[in-house]
Amino acid sequence: MVYRSWAEIDSKRLIQNTHNVYNYSKKGILAVVKADAYGHGSVEISKILEKISYVRKLCVATAEEGKELREGGIKKEILVLGGVLKEELDYFIEYNLQPVISDFDQLYLLKDRFSGSVHLKFDTGMHRLGFYIEDTDRVIKYIKEKNIKVEGLMSHFPSADVDPELTGHQIEKFKKIVDIFKNEGINPRFIHIQNSAGLVYRCDYCNCVRVGISLYGEKPSDNFPLNIKTVMSVKSKIISVKGIKKGDMVSYGGSFKADKDMKIGIVSFGYADGLPRELSNRGFFLVKDKRSRILGNVTMDMTIIDLSGIEDVKVGDTVLIVGKNGKEEISFNDIAKMCNTIPYEIMCRISKRVKRIIL
Ligand SMILES: *Cc1c(COP(=O)(O)O)cnc(C)c1O
Repeated sequence: MVYRSWAEIDSKRLIQNTHNVYNYSKKGILAVVKADAYGHGSVEISKILEKISYVRKLCVATAEEGKELREGGIKKEILVLGGVLKEELDYFIEYNLQPVISDFDQLYLLKDRFSGSVHLKFDTGMHRLGFYIEDTDRVIKYIKEKNIKVEGLMSHFPSADVDPELTGHQIEKFKKIVDIFKNEGINPRFIHIQNSAGLVYRCDYCNCVRVGISLYGEKPSDNFPLNIKTVMSVKSKIISVKGIKKGDMVSYGGSFKADKDMKIGIVSFGYADGLPRELSNRGFFLVKDKRSRILGNVTMDMTIIDLSGIEDVKVGDTVLIVGKNGKEEISFNDIAKMCNTIPYEIMCRISKRVKRIIL
């Protein structure tokens, strides 16, 4: 296979980050590998993570993602965070997936058709998925009636990175819910609420953490205390080097106009590879340890960069889109900030055309 753009996945770093999360939290890890493991390649990442004993489960968003892991040979338990729709139920059975049940519609769906165990999700402030604390008695009555096996109880933080007060309330509220279950004789094996940003909070009654971004080495908040390192670096190649004259305009729309004669390079990486078009005239790549700014609009397959002052550049040379080279670095977070978004989105956007290579 010949590819022009690729993402190198540093498996040692992935393992080290996972280890650091475990050491910090002292809790089992439910590793989130949804969305193709945040763009890193879910089967490959899961193969590495499933060998780690304290990684208790892999979490995906949908049954379809769970199927993909099973077809890729993954044996570890798989929790489907996004729950179950009627038409997906057969997948849960066929591929041995475990649903997160977060409302009565889903609960009633299980009835006699699903005999595996489930995790129940409670909404303590996110207002996305989850039962309310007020539903607890009804839920318990129903699962006892129908003999539904509850292996886990969970909730989710919307703002652990920015709102300690809300997060604290959530930890208390979730404890009340857990206690109600325990008083009713239901003691699920897995109790979890912490995501990556939530790791810095104490939750003594929880026994595992449900983390994604920290495993991939990106900090969920600026003052995140764990030592983690970026797992994925993204690279491409220069496919043409040429000159432009003062006054020439570059790329679609001519949004860059040269104020002097310049040397430019054409890089085989565009928005179809996952480079945000918002980086037009703003972002930069690394060429031979030097920053090289993006000129004009990012196009679907190519991006034009300024090679002025960078010696010895030739066609075929490697360009770093995300990663570290000498003293210079471009992180997912740097790109996210330039695009007014979060590193999660930039990672997920790295597209299929970019070949993933596991180191
Ligand atoms: C994606 C997700 C996580 C992981 O969040 P990170 O911030 O990546 O650690 C945890 N729980 C749920 C329900 C999620 O959807």
